[in-house]
Amino acid sequence: MKRSMRAMVLTAPGATLEERKVLRPEPGTGQVRIKVSACGVCRTDLHVRDGDLENAKLPLILGHEIVGTVDALGADVSLHKPGDRVCVPWLGSTCNNCFYCLSNRENLCEHPLFTGYTVDGGFAEYTVADQNYVFKAPEGYSDVELAPLLCAGLIGWRSFKFADLKAGQNLGIYGFGAAAHIITQVALYKQIKVFAFTRPGDLAAREFALGLGAAFAGGSDEEPPEKLDAAIIFAPVGDLVVQALKCSRRGAVIVCGGIHMSDIPAFPYHLLWNERRIQSVANLTREDAEEFLALAPVIPVKTSTIEYPLIRAAEALDDLSHGRFSGAAVLLI
Ligand SMILES: [Zn+2]
Ligand SMILES: [Zn+2]
Repeated sequence: MKRSMRAMVLTAPGATLEERKVLRPEPGTGQVRIKVSACGVCRTDLHVRDGDLENAKLPLILGHEIVGTVDALGADVSLHKPGDRVCVPWLGSTCNNCFYCLSNRENLCEHPLFTGYTVDGGFAEYTVADQNYVFKAPEGYSDVELAPLLCAGLIGWRSFKFADLKAGQNLGIYGFGAAAHIITQVALYKQIKVFAFTRPGDLAAREFALGLGAAFAGGSDEEPPEKLDAAIIFAPVGDLVVQALKCSRRGAVIVCGGIHMSDIPAFPYHLLWNERRIQSVANLTREDAEEFLALAPVIPVKTSTIEYPLIRAAEALDDLSHGRFSGAAVLLI
């Protein structure tokens, strides 16, 4: 008899996640099956749920910040063994054969699979994943603490690399949620000053940022006390690109860290003039994952988490959507 498992399933764009009994997945060739213990809840899950990201697999199990234990191996698996503590990020697999894969830019692959979007993810008791895109879990973190590092951390890390800052320079962060609270710690470790911008009136998020060591925390409509050498925009709000340009020094880069953003309004060219740049960030590479999962325990990056049981996944998404908590939501499976 086939075994079943509990999963939170999205049946249509815009629908509420439903608890379902579904067949436990069997690992295919090159895949491992993972008994999930924790899975982070990310803003991208919201964009998939709401249909902002098109062509999702349906019905779909969301979740791409997966921590668990290898439970079964498909054929030809050599990189992992049952009992290994592992984690799975957004990048589910790449083709290894397209123009981008062959030029060391697998994050731009033309035929990728994404965890919890085009293949099932971790809002479930079990998941399967390609062995080449599964990482050993770093020591020093509980499963819950580790989960937010897998997207908020990895995409944040890739965004931070594009900011290309040196010690003593100023980084603005717009949208102070899970990714921001992780990257603030990385920036401070590298002696970069952090200026945090939150939704106007969100005093809790400002306190959270100052508590982590930000030099300034204010509304996203405010001017910082010093000009910014770079800004990372984690909030999905195009107006913030223009706002960040207004607050930036010559040569600054404005990094858009999200996968989805509202339109960027027209703005005068002089705001971009003097070699300011706008940079989007797409997905991650395995190299990003290896770098960041090695660096995080050295700093050490600490994650601030809000736990929800699996069955309350829909509520966790709603709370994220309404900014009802500081830090990162994690489902306990
Ligand atoms: Zn490719
Ligand atoms: Zn994510």
